[in-house]
Amino acid sequence: MADEKELINKIADGQVKLHQVEKFTDDVDEAVTIRRKFVEKVSNTELKHISKYSLSMEEALKRNIENPIGTVQIPVGIAGPLAIHGEHAEGEYYVPIATSEGALIASINRGFSAIRAGGGATARIIDDKMTRAPVIKTSSVSESLKIKTWIQTNFSKLKEAAESTTRHGKLVKIDPVVVVGKYVYPRFVYTTGDSMGMNMVTIATETALNVLMEETSGHVISLSGNVDVDKKPAAMNLIEGRGKTISAEISLPREVVAKTLKTTPEAIVEVNTAKNFVGSAISGSMGFNAHYANMIGGIFLATGQDEAHIVEGSLGITVAEENDGNLYFSVTLPDVPVATFGGGTRLETARECLEIMGVYGSGGVGKFAEIVAGTVLAGELSLMGALSAGHLARAHKDLGRG
Ligand code: NAP
Repeated sequence: MADEKELINKIADGQVKLHQVEKFTDDVDEAVTIRRKFVEKVSNTELKHISKYSLSMEEALKRNIENPIGTVQIPVGIAGPLAIHGEHAEGEYYVPIATSEGALIASINRGFSAIRAGGGATARIIDDKMTRAPVIKTSSVSESLKIKTWIQTNFSKLKEAAESTTRHGKLVKIDPVVVVGKYVYPRFVYTTGDSMGMNMVTIATETALNVLMEETSGHVISLSGNVDVDKKPAAMNLIEGRGKTISAEISLPREVVAKTLKTTPEAIVEVNTAKNFVGSAISGSMGFNAHYANMIGGIFLATGQDEAHIVEGSLGITVAEENDGNLYFSVTLPDVPVATFGGGTRLETARECLEIMGVYGSGGVGKFAEIVAGTVLAGELSLMGALSAGHLARAHKDLGRG
């Protein structure tokens, strides 16, 4: 048992660094307490909620967090059941959503009701990849082009080097290889099994680049040159895809649209055109949708996904059509990096949330990706329904006045 007061004073005067506290304590939980008490002292606060946790901080400290002082708590609610017909997910699923936005789960649930009444959503994984794109410096644009050709002709050599570092990672292609003057940006594209794969592909790409640097004049400036494109919204990802590219669709009879969503297929189609197509186009948005980030964020936080990837999951296009008086509605998300193994999925609460859907661990990621697509479909359908109902109500009022 460490002398708490003495240790806190030593942290305050810089003799012990925040990351060194574990060296002076019997266990990780004691270090967590001392670090938190130091923060309470310097910030003159009482952190009585952050102090409460049941997960193993010792395990978390190995891979998920540095300098832990406790946990934050986000309420997690349940939505469902989602009725879905996927290639991996077939049946009905309850979906955990972590959020502090009131009405979100109620809204998703309304979408789930509509989907059930319509016979279930269809979901598919369109593409599956994780990318790493370093930036390589050369002496001239002609040298850059030589390196581009070298990369293209030596693909199997680079693949062998990359795959020597991993059992599950497979280098599918290096494409595009973008040249900007003296800079070359090869986009390494992998499949990564049930993991999200960023660590995996970073290690693999670094090993492949060692071969490139041995055999060419290229110099790696940075392991990521932002053509990946990791954790930023980008047209590259919208077009090429990253993580799982997923889509879900439903055809809803007009009566279901009227009863569950209190609107008409025509009103939803018009709002979709005016808002998600024209409004997004004129604002230069890459999210041609109403609010994918709400469902992606809620699921990512509940299930231990990398929260910075919510920005990528916000990309995508909602399509609404009126067909023979009924509503066809689809969501397509080109860039959803998800995992059921590795990263934050190993944290106890994340694991439990993944287990609710029966997707935790090896073999679960395809099913999980389809459930994500179905949940986004529900949330999008519900909000578009609410906006359209408002549009209809105002139209009736205006007509009444005329
Ligand atoms: P990971 O936690 O390292 O998981 C991948 C590891 O799991 C691989 O070593 C793989 O072994 C093993 N594995 C076992 N069973 C597997 C299965 N069924 N499918 C796939 N892999 C399996 O993490 P990651 O997914 O590569 O990366 C996620 C983490 O990276 C997150 O914590 C995220 O925050 C972080 N991240 C890192 C960077 C970066 O640049 N380093 C950037 C963004 C995010 P084999 O490799 O031998 O197959």
